[in-house]
Amino acid sequence: MELLKHCMLCPRKCGVNRYETVGACGATNQIRLAYYHLHQWEEPVLSGEKGSGTIFFSHCNLKCIYCQNKKISIDGYGKIISNKKLGEIMLKLQEEGAHNINLVTPTHYVPNIASVLRKTKDKTLTIPVVYNTSSYESIGTLMMMNRLVDIYLADLRYFDDQLGVNYSGCKDYFENATMAIDEMYRQVGSCEFDESGLMKKGLIVRVLILPGHLDDSKKIIKYLYQTYGDDIFISIMNQYTPVNHCLYENLNRKLTEKEYDEVIQYALELGVTNAFIQEEGTQEESFIPHFDKSIL
Ligand code: SF4
Repeated sequence: MELLKHCMLCPRKCGVNRYETVGACGATNQIRLAYYHLHQWEEPVLSGEKGSGTIFFSHCNLKCIYCQNKKISIDGYGKIISNKKLGEIMLKLQEEGAHNINLVTPTHYVPNIASVLRKTKDKTLTIPVVYNTSSYESIGTLMMMNRLVDIYLADLRYFDDQLGVNYSGCKDYFENATMAIDEMYRQVGSCEFDESGLMKKGLIVRVLILPGHLDDSKKIIKYLYQTYGDDIFISIMNQYTPVNHCLYENLNRKLTEKEYDEVIQYALELGVTNAFIQEEGTQEESFIPHFDKSIL
């Protein structure tokens, strides 16, 4: 794959030859996978009753210091698999009853994934494809997924770029992420659901509230609502779980119920109605998948 010989797939623009070395994400030219399963804890329109067919890719191009999936995103846990095997896993999840195929952190493997989906999408693979991303994306890379992705499940992590610098080592998060979300919206448009309420296409943007940064989350929600109104869903998440000890003390605690309520109240006052909110008790490590490459 030529694109991987001078990798510019994401805004890090490393320009490395991934057949010989790795860039900031740590990924080589081959897919490394950590785990796949029917996941029950995504938004209800994705998990439904049987679960979302979730495929966890190893490595990450954003590498947030507080990542709850550090084992795979930063440490690179996983097993190298062929593109063909990835296609087989998608079909296996479909056979097991998955409501969709949920690609978690796929950015650095887009050429490989697009090649698999071009052969299977709407042929043998008939369930929706979900692209689950930090949104630190380049437009050209997302365009490779045009018509191959039905649902974008995108984070918008920081409004203030200083938070991106401190927590993810990038100084241009908001500009890149918002341009990427615009491209996602251009591709999939307004949300559509089937008769049982499962999402068939559309855009969900997740706002993970970080302890001590309620104002940043409010600015993100305001931006999303003013930009997209009710055409998208906003998923307001309280599930921040401190699993890595961070230099920033605020990241070493959970979000309080009072803090979460304050952000929800703000969203309601803005007029947001298309939103998902989380119940109490989602801040446990038991909600983090036990990655197991031995199933691959
Ligand atoms: S995908 Fe990885 S190697 Fe390519 S530009 Fe992004 S961080 Fe660098």
